[in-house]
Amino acid sequence: MLMLLQNGSPKRWLPVFSLQNSSDRESILNILQVLGDLLSVGTDRRIRYMISKGGSEALLQTLVDTARAASPDYDVLLPLFRLLAKVGLRDKKFGQKALELEALDVTLILARKNLSHSQNLLHCLWALRVFSSSVTTGAMLGINGAMELLFKVITPYTQKRTRIIRAATEVLAALLKSKSNSRRAVNRGYVTSLLRLHQDWHGHDTANTYVLIRRTLLLCLKHIANLRSGREAFLAAQGMEILFSTTQNCLDDGSLEPIVSVVVQILRQCYPKSPLPLVTATSAYAFPVPGSIPSEPPCVLTEEDFEDDADEEVDKDSDSEEVKDQDDDLETDVNKLSSKPGLDRPEEELMQYEAMCLELSCSFEEGNADILFSILNPKELKSQSGDDLKFEETQYANHHHIPTVASPKWHGLNKDQSSWKQGREDMVQTSLLSKVKMGRSTMHPASRKGPGMNPCQNMQSNGFGIDSSGKEIPDIQDSLKQDVWDIDVISCPMISASFSNSARPRETDEVIDKLLQTHPKPVPFHDPCLYMAKARRTRSVADFKTMAFPDLWGHRPPPSAQSMLERKCGVQRIKIFEDVRRLIQPTDIINKVVFSLDEPWPLQDTASDCLRFYSKFESGNLRKAIQVRELEYDLLVNADVNSSQHQQWFYFKVSGMRAAVPYRFNVINCEKPNSQFNYGMQPTLYSVKEALLGRPTWIRMGYEICYYKNHYRQSTAVTGGASQKHFYTLTFVVNFPHNEDACYLAYHYPYTYTALMTHLDILEKSVNPKQVYFRQDVLCQTLGGNSCPLVTITAMPESDSADHLEQFRQRPCQVITARVHPGESNASWVMKGALEFLVSSDPVATLLRENFIFKVIPMLNPDGVINGNHRCSLKGEDLNRQWLSPSAHLQPTIYHAKGLLYYLSSIGRSPRVFCDFHGHSQKKNVFLYGCSIKETLWQAESATGTSTVLEDVGYRTLPKILDKLAPAFTMNSCSFLVEKSRASTARVVVWREMGVSRSYTMESSYCGCNQGPYQVCEAPAYAYFLSSSYVL
Ligand SMILES: [Zn+2]
Repeated sequence: MLMLLQNGSPKRWLPVFSLQNSSDRESILNILQVLGDLLSVGTDRRIRYMISKGGSEALLQTLVDTARAASPDYDVLLPLFRLLAKVGLRDKKFGQKALELEALDVTLILARKNLSHSQNLLHCLWALRVFSSSVTTGAMLGINGAMELLFKVITPYTQKRTRIIRAATEVLAALLKSKSNSRRAVNRGYVTSLLRLHQDWHGHDTANTYVLIRRTLLLCLKHIANLRSGREAFLAAQGMEILFSTTQNCLDDGSLEPIVSVVVQILRQCYPKSPLPLVTATSAYAFPVPGSIPSEPPCVLTEEDFEDDADEEVDKDSDSEEVKDQDDDLETDVNKLSSKPGLDRPEEELMQYEAMCLELSCSFEEGNADILFSILNPKELKSQSGDDLKFEETQYANHHHIPTVASPKWHGLNKDQSSWKQGREDMVQTSLLSKVKMGRSTMHPASRKGPGMNPCQNMQSNGFGIDSSGKEIPDIQDSLKQDVWDIDVISCPMISASFSNSARPRETDEVIDKLLQTHPKPVPFHDPCLYMAKARRTRSVADFKTMAFPDLWGHRPPPSAQSMLERKCGVQRIKIFEDVRRLIQPTDIINKVVFSLDEPWPLQDTASDCLRFYSKFESGNLRKAIQVRELEYDLLVNADVNSSQHQQWFYFKVSGMRAAVPYRFNVINCEKPNSQFNYGMQPTLYSVKEALLGRPTWIRMGYEICYYKNHYRQSTAVTGGASQKHFYTLTFVVNFPHNEDACYLAYHYPYTYTALMTHLDILEKSVNPKQVYFRQDVLCQTLGGNSCPLVTITAMPESDSADHLEQFRQRPCQVITARVHPGESNASWVMKGALEFLVSSDPVATLLRENFIFKVIPMLNPDGVINGNHRCSLKGEDLNRQWLSPSAHLQPTIYHAKGLLYYLSSIGRSPRVFCDFHGHSQKKNVFLYGCSIKETLWQAESATGTSTVLEDVGYRTLPKILDKLAPAFTMNSCSFLVEKSRASTARVVVWREMGVSRSYTMESSYCGCNQGPYQVCEAPAYAYFLSSSYVL
């Protein structure tokens, strides 16, 4: 039938054609009947076909003609309106067409005439609804008085004509998408009317029959609230109070979800915006960078104009993790991808790195083992006779003693050597694989023992730990009960002697000494005395005088794997209602600043009931704490030094708590738009009392955790950007395990620079120097005056025979770096594990040492780590964007790391693998980013030259092996694309400039795994603390 009709008219569909040419009532009715039948059974395609053939125009014209008659014929109009409503929904230009054909006026007139005639009015409203789908047409309807008409229909509240009311509210909501209509609504006082209607419907619709009407009324308010004047009118009309109170009894009712979600959006939108409660946006710490112009005076935060700050944001309480489209960022210039730039410095400068690569350039002869040994281990004799614990006497300088060496006898490889090397490498790979597969390695404890086993429990004893089994020594309990520890006194002063103007530090020093004597120190590869000695050499911008207890005392993994926190629906909503309650029920609001880096010390009234905060220690970050309610605190973290951004990392001490009481903490100036805190991640907590009881453990803590955009804004004047900066709140609730404890809370398990320096010394002493070659060098000094260590690990030559010596010298290098981003402390924990593994007696580690030389820079940004930065160096720069042309003075660690790589490259010893360890805040698991020209061009669908590009596919081997063997690793998140925005990262520069095809960034989740054997079961982790056995 359709075909028949189509055949009738080459240009226009027959019924449409006929409609336009019919003037008698009977034919029009017949045609409308046919059209109605056709379109009611057909698919959208049929309607679209009709639209393409001018159907909309024909129907609209018929409407105008019929409506303009002296006495409109409703027998024609009603079916016509039904058709219009149906067709209009599918025609994107319907509103425009209606406007052009003057169908708006006639419909409005008809509607006005039929205010008391339900059936006719309803049909008019259906048409108006499709007309108003276009904002322009909606605005025109508004000018012509449509809103007044609709308000006549929907007010006052009645349940008599609900179909009409529903249609009218829908038209109104559509009209209010136009700003001019919203403005008109504000001027005519409709905000108050809408709120009144909301209350009436809410009060009367107790059976929740009219949820759709109620929701649409709220959508009207939401559209109006996109305007600043709308928000003001809403606030003036007590909108916050009204919506807050009417919604309180709906929160648990799933059927009211459509209403509550719009209410939450309106409340968030209308919550008055304000600047952060900070004196300046810039960091509380400033560092004078040598040679740079002093920074401008800090911008003072002021009240500002928040005009039309329309966040059409949907409630983030959903499971979808965002995936960014990065295709625009791909590097498609083949020259940039494949050309190798020249040196960025004079070639002769490279010779300084020779001293850091003794093992490559040492000249030694067959049969002279003792000389060889002493050349390779310049301080061996000294440390072998030394007292292990007298570290303060062991000058740090010993560790960067750079011995003189004979000039290198051998540079580069000849052809035979290369092939020997290749064969050797293949053999190593096979051998490693077979060993790991046989399960002889400690690399993969989970594959042998299941996910419950903690890898660190197998860690070898280093001789310092007393009991690493985790068993409690009975008299510790007693000693803790006997001693009435003033827990705040255990504040770990760093400098006892020079601190003479106060009696307290000396007293605390004694307390610490006593604690160290009386309590076991069962942490493997850690020693508090050494830590204290090292800490005194660590230089911070704020000149920290204290150490955080967890760093000093050490950390042991929890006795069993912790599950990821189960996400509960609706937590964010509850928190937002609690935030709104501050505004409308302020009776319990305290708003007292209890800690601040910016204000005179001490602010804290130790006698009061509030918590006490502290953050002036290495890696500490808390700028301000405000007690909002009795058990709720707003926290502000400090921007990176010399910067006004990157607030994310936090690490602070809190004391003065009551046990088992729910304290809510809100970190209110976070910057990242989303976080794993919305997907099961918890902050970490360390309790001093627990540590003294023999459980020195950072554990994942906190519940009711969520991360959402808040009402704080930073003006464009401060950000220098085009738009205002938004902030995000991380909120969590903690039940502390003990009364009057001192607890430390952190974004992630902290790992300080001092911890690294301590660890390296302990590690060095733990190895058998006859088997393991372990050397510490100083790569360079940082801007802040700290040494950046470089570690070399390989096996000592098997003997001093010519073959063994040759094999020793020809081992290929692997370069591993970490912690360029200070907030990514997980990178340091991964590095710690890697170093311990590399020196261990594990057969795989032995094999690795025998076949490779590992050059490790475990902390590329010591200053950032020390000063509690999240992202940057002391210059306020992201060091992983400085690899293209680093400066020796401004980015020394990057300059010299690159120099070392240049040096290796210049002597033909470019590393086989380069890997930079990072932490990832948005994704789970562990994965690699690598570099591939072909994959990048393919992804960018850039056909240019892919066929001519020759590429070694070896970059995929390592990730593939890891995917098979490493439980936490996932190939799915790996990427080998070269992005323009990453052109100055370590990965891309080492790949391009040093020609290292296996150049990677390794990302480890801050949170956990959602695949493989470490995949977590969902159970509330705080149960750990709540269980009776755990709480004293
Ligand atoms: Zn990073």
